[in-house]
Amino acid sequence: MIPKHAYLDQSISLLAALNDRQINAVRKDLGVSSLGDLLDVFPFRYVDKTQFTNISDLQESNDLIQIKATLSSIREVKGKAKRRLVAQIFDGSGQMELLWFQGISWIPNALEAGKTYIFFGKVSKYGSKFSMVHPEFEPFEEGKKIPVGLEPVYHSTEKLNKAGFTQKKRKKCIKQILSKVPPTVIPDPISESYRKSLKLISLGDAVHKIHFPKSIAERDEAIKRIKFHELFFLQLRILFLKSRRKEQLKGVVFEKVGDAFMKYYNEKIPFELTNAQKRVIKEVRRDVASGFQMNRLIQGDVGSGKTMVALLCMLLAKDNGFQSCLMAPTEILAQQHFESLSETLKGTGVYVGYLSGSIKGKLRKETLRLVSEGLIHILIGTHALLEDWVQFQNIGLAIIDEQHRFGVAQRAKLWAKAKAHIPHILVMTATPIPRTMALTLYGDLDVSVIDELPPGRKKVQTVHKFDNGRPEVYAFIEREIEKGRQIYVVYPLIEESATLDLANLEQGYERLLQRFPRPAYQISVVHGRMKATDKDLEMQRFVNKESHILVATTVIEVGVNVPNASVMLIENAERFGLSQLHQLRGRVGRGNSQSYCILLSSYKLTQQSRERLTTMVRTNDGFEIAEADLQLRGPGDMEGTQQSGVVNLRLSSLTHDKSLLEYCRNFALTILQDDPTLAKAHNQSLLEYMRAGSGNLKEWGRIS
Ligand code: ADP
Ligand code: MG
Repeated sequence: MIPKHAYLDQSISLLAALNDRQINAVRKDLGVSSLGDLLDVFPFRYVDKTQFTNISDLQESNDLIQIKATLSSIREVKGKAKRRLVAQIFDGSGQMELLWFQGISWIPNALEAGKTYIFFGKVSKYGSKFSMVHPEFEPFEEGKKIPVGLEPVYHSTEKLNKAGFTQKKRKKCIKQILSKVPPTVIPDPISESYRKSLKLISLGDAVHKIHFPKSIAERDEAIKRIKFHELFFLQLRILFLKSRRKEQLKGVVFEKVGDAFMKYYNEKIPFELTNAQKRVIKEVRRDVASGFQMNRLIQGDVGSGKTMVALLCMLLAKDNGFQSCLMAPTEILAQQHFESLSETLKGTGVYVGYLSGSIKGKLRKETLRLVSEGLIHILIGTHALLEDWVQFQNIGLAIIDEQHRFGVAQRAKLWAKAKAHIPHILVMTATPIPRTMALTLYGDLDVSVIDELPPGRKKVQTVHKFDNGRPEVYAFIEREIEKGRQIYVVYPLIEESATLDLANLEQGYERLLQRFPRPAYQISVVHGRMKATDKDLEMQRFVNKESHILVATTVIEVGVNVPNASVMLIENAERFGLSQLHQLRGRVGRGNSQSYCILLSSYKLTQQSRERLTTMVRTNDGFEIAEADLQLRGPGDMEGTQQSGVVNLRLSSLTHDKSLLEYCRNFALTILQDDPTLAKAHNQSLLEYMRAGSGNLKEWGRIS
């Protein structure tokens, strides 16, 4: 956060107070290497050392408190496991116990019965009695001036403590660094005039005050400035890149709506589009007519009808003489798109092709020829479409389905496909992303939301059962099969425990075979270790209703459409993430009859997994689930954030600072509207700061 600075860029080994062990621990556990880095790690709370709490007023809490009390006794207790020191103190309002498990040799010498001390630490309650474990203490001196201000408290680790990098030492180091850089010496990329209009203190002031505020008000000023700083630059960077790219990248123009679109729209669609679908198509049409390249993200919950939107956009491209491609993350999904689109486009004069790694030899050659000659208008496939050997005659639109499986770098490859122009890009995802995340991760994309499901859909009913409820669940499944419905049974599979997970799945498969024996029942099984062709075969059996039950790992997570399936049974549901669970549930409830999602888990649940399961039972709303996911996991964990490296927030939070984020975004927009290239003198420092901070700005701009 702190801009380049000759003194602050130096190594922490400059700090005389630290020995090698401490320096190493700080490097490793705090990820801090320069003096400025150390200032960049802020306290996570403060203690008001001017206040004393009465023992009679104690309450259990996480806060550190101060007690002024007299020591009545201190003695060593040799317990079964561990020696400990126990002290009794009183302050006139009551008495309590202090405990130490370390420092047993020196603490008794430092404390004297009958004397008054200031004890400082966290209070815990044992039975009805309060105690403090490992309090800090100092003798109370009558008339001694109590320092004004709040004491910072930093997150620490065992390693840091063991190395002797205590809170005290840390404060000392930070004080020393700050003494060398008065507030005015720390450069501020946000100019004074901007600061004035925003009522923000300078960065230098904020850095001083965040560590050693003299009052709550000072602390709050510092927090406000730093939060603003983080979110403002996050947005400015994204918007700057977006505007630069827009300016540089002319797009092909789809100016007319022609036969392909109109005929299909009027004659072929068996249902009325939802208003949300119509709106999104309008947004796309506006983009592709603008003369600039479109980069749009379509967010829509599972089953919201994104494929239809994609198809209509591709027909629009065709009407304007351009080819399109539709890319899916798995072969199964790509094939399903291919089959349903070729079916629905039969007789319209729009030709659809298919390519994937498994299409080889003559068929591949022929397809490639048709694509390069422009005879295939819509090419559907897997990431094989990105290969160099796929050459279009005239590609105008690339659609990527279920984007979260596609790396950013792969998206960038698409750009190389175009001869004269970069095609318009449409990214579709069913993983709902909270708005703040969307602004951050996809802030450079324009976002459309399909926030409406087609009418007549019945809400999937979700229940949570423990493992011992399995017989009852199987009986339920049996009844659904009797009604002619099909069942998904899903097992978790993660890399780290793949072998165990597969064994688990095999076992479950055996159990199902026993309960649902052949030939009356047919069970398909699909997992990651199978050959692609076997997988497809098994999957196809299920799609064709030849099997009743599909046992699978999460390979079916994305996109498959089997409207006849009515039950999604998720085994070890506690091991899935929220958005994964939601995705899986979206595989059922695609027709008009009632569907069910059954979450099976063991009794042992962590607080988090319990909350995930109750969230699933409580709501079907993808956005609510995304918000809950963000709350539970924190944004650092959200898919894609880590590798994209976009989010590195210290004080602000995408969960709690929504309105500030919007405010910062608007401010960034205002600046860029006035000065799109940040060329004006008073914006120079902004540009320089971003250049220094984001490393290779050019690369960043190329990839969305
Ligand atoms: P997703 O957004 O998850 O990709 P799909 O495009 O697969 O959803 O659509 C799910 C199902 O809903 C499909 O069977 C599709 O034909 C149907 N569908 C799409 N739009 C509508 C609509 N407006 N009215 C009724 N059914 C629709
Ligand atoms: Mg889809």
